[in-house]
Amino acid sequence: MFAALELLDAGIKPLIFERGKKIEERDCDIQRFIRERTLDPESNIQFGEGGAGSYSDGKLFSRVNNSPYANRVLETFIRFGAPEDIRVVRKPHLGTDVLCGIVRAVRNYILEHGGEIHYSARLTDVRVSDGSVAGIVINGVEEYPASTLYLAVGHSARDTFRMLHENGVALEQKPISVGVRIEHPADVINRVRYGAKYHDAPGQDAATYSFNHTDRKTGRGVTTFCMCPGGEIVNASSESGRLVLNGMSYAARASAFSNSALVVRCHSEDYPSAHPLAGLEFQAEIEQKAFEAAGRDWKVPAQNLMDFIGGQVSAGIHANSCKMGVVAVDLKALFPKFVVEELLSAFVKWKQDEPLFVSEQAVLLAPETRTSSPVRICRDENYESVTVKNLVPIGEGAGYSGGITSSAIDAIKAVKRCLT
Ligand SMILES: Cc1cc2nc3c(=O)[nH]c(=O)nc-3n(C[C@H](O)[C@H](O)[C@H](O)COP(=O)(O)OP(=O)(O)OC[C@H]3O[C@@H](n4cnc5c(N)ncnc54)[C@H](O)[C@@H]3O)c2cc1C
Repeated sequence: MFAALELLDAGIKPLIFERGKKIEERDCDIQRFIRERTLDPESNIQFGEGGAGSYSDGKLFSRVNNSPYANRVLETFIRFGAPEDIRVVRKPHLGTDVLCGIVRAVRNYILEHGGEIHYSARLTDVRVSDGSVAGIVINGVEEYPASTLYLAVGHSARDTFRMLHENGVALEQKPISVGVRIEHPADVINRVRYGAKYHDAPGQDAATYSFNHTDRKTGRGVTTFCMCPGGEIVNASSESGRLVLNGMSYAARASAFSNSALVVRCHSEDYPSAHPLAGLEFQAEIEQKAFEAAGRDWKVPAQNLMDFIGGQVSAGIHANSCKMGVVAVDLKALFPKFVVEELLSAFVKWKQDEPLFVSEQAVLLAPETRTSSPVRICRDENYESVTVKNLVPIGEGAGYSGGITSSAIDAIKAVKRCLT
């Protein structure tokens, strides 16, 4: 959407092809998934208008905060309905309720200014002529000529990565992190962060945290990531038989729970082979084990933290925010051994530093595997694919950004570069 806005600013009317549905219809599909446990692989928390960010916590901070580009992204969000205070707060966040409204406003703007949006329109092939993009194929049947193809497919478009590989587009492996979601009652986290005296002070926001641990023996890092204070753990699956979690929140961050991804850094050597797409297999194997372990009906594998540490399946799972329900399993069985060992090593350290964090109230749900893209679509300094001219991979799926703000910045910079 940010690429489209940039093109419109330059007087170019973009054609957008979105495999999913309009945000309103997508919302119905997500609610149906929760209610009836039927996943639409084309319309879910990953796929559909607005992309993966629409059902997120909407954290807008990134490593490039305060840069002119980051400010431009914030200003664009404000222009389309975000509250003005995101300009000044240290860690701006929007919440899914606000984000979905912004997505509608951006869509209307694109349409009113001559852009075209095709829904349920999956890119299934790229036509290349003399080393340049000449056209695209949608849903296997519709052909469109194309002079420039901005490819912003996100990190979950595994079929698209395969198609690109088959077409000779250069791809390479990229390391990711995998692990679990950890959740506590929000009040426990407030006590960890604000202390016993102020944990319930009036007007206090649900507390955030960030923990890191590096195993000195192995050099691997364990980190909390995408923390959602007063949020919800969501079933963010997009493929039949493969289960993946993520976290989201509403603007008010008022739920009784606070969760975060808790992930272990993986290296390319952890992948099953040197094939550029081996990282996809690595993720998919964990996701498939999770789906099967929890009974193949989209319930979520879970284990109370102290049982995970003690090595036993929980007799009952603590109250948690996951609407799709949980099943007590041995989470260790879902992951490669090194992931489990690194998590355990981090818990030992954090138990000493923050005993309330590693305490009886915490529960683990799994898996968190889509922290970033396990593939990079190799591009040059002009943002073009190194093998196919006028193919411009952008955003998280290109493998050069992570998160809403940095992906938006990547899109803006790519369009600017391509138009000069
Ligand atoms: C639940 C959740 C919470 C998150 N929370 C945060 C957060 O708080 N802060 C943050 O910075 N980041 C968060 N993220 C990550 C963030 O959403 C992504 O980094 C960001 O959306 C990446 O943007 P993108 O446009 O590159 O890709 P995406 O948002 O993934 O968009 C890709 C789009 O391409 C479409 N598509 C895919 N393949 C095709 C195809 N073949 N043909 C046509 N269309 C296709 C998809 O339907 C989708 O709309 C969260 C993600 C999730 C899932």
